Amino acid sequence: MRILLIEDEYELANAVRIALERERFVVDTAASLAHARASAEGAAHDLVLLDRTLPDGDGLALLPALRSRNRGVPVIVLSALGKLADRIEGLDEGADDYLAKPFALEELMARIRAIRRRPSDLASETITLGRLCFDPACDEASVQGQRLDLPRRELRVIACLVQRKGRTVMRETLEQAVFGYDDEIHSNTLDSHVSRLRRKLADADAGVEIHAVRGVGYLLRAAPC
Ligand code: CA
Repeated sequence: MRILLIEDEYELANAVRIALERERFVVDTAASLAHARASAEGAAHDLVLLDRTLPDGDGLALLPALRSRNRGVPVIVLSALGKLADRIEGLDEGADDYLAKPFALEELMARIRAIRRRPSDLASETITLGRLCFDPACDEASVQGQRLDLPRRELRVIACLVQRKGRTVMRETLEQAVFGYDDEIHSNTLDSHVSRLRRKLADADAGVEIHAVRGVGYLLRAAPC
């Protein structure tokens, strides 16, 4: 799951980012409306955390653009503007939730979990290939009921591949799914995640293989019996 965090207070943004990454989310951060617009255009996000008081305007101004690009994306406003009228304005403008600052990180995490439990998210069905299952609602990969304990980036690789099973996934698409914009991508980093993942899938007897398509990317397919 990829989250766009729009927040101009550096320390708060950093604390939220670290807490989200601990939950194995990929996080893109933006500190202004302009930067947020560019980030939203560059990647499909599964959730947006939106500050209101930004250097170039009210974060709520971003909502129509976010919705026109990615209609169902949930948005949680995080704002020091916490009066009743502010909260009503935010929700009426189309935010899914509104958390007044200061807030506890635990509460933010609980609200993210609540949003992810909504029916629209549950509608995304479990995908299977070989003996591998991927459940997008829980963001979990398992083999015959046994959860695979994968680090965040390996989980993102398998999620991206299994959602496009049998098709070649371009390197750039995988890198975008796996790394945040702030990460430096070394040319062999993706390949090392893939090779660790291959080993784990083989150890778990998942019945799938990650096939390298030279110069293009990777594809996930059922392993020959
Ligand atoms: Ca702010």
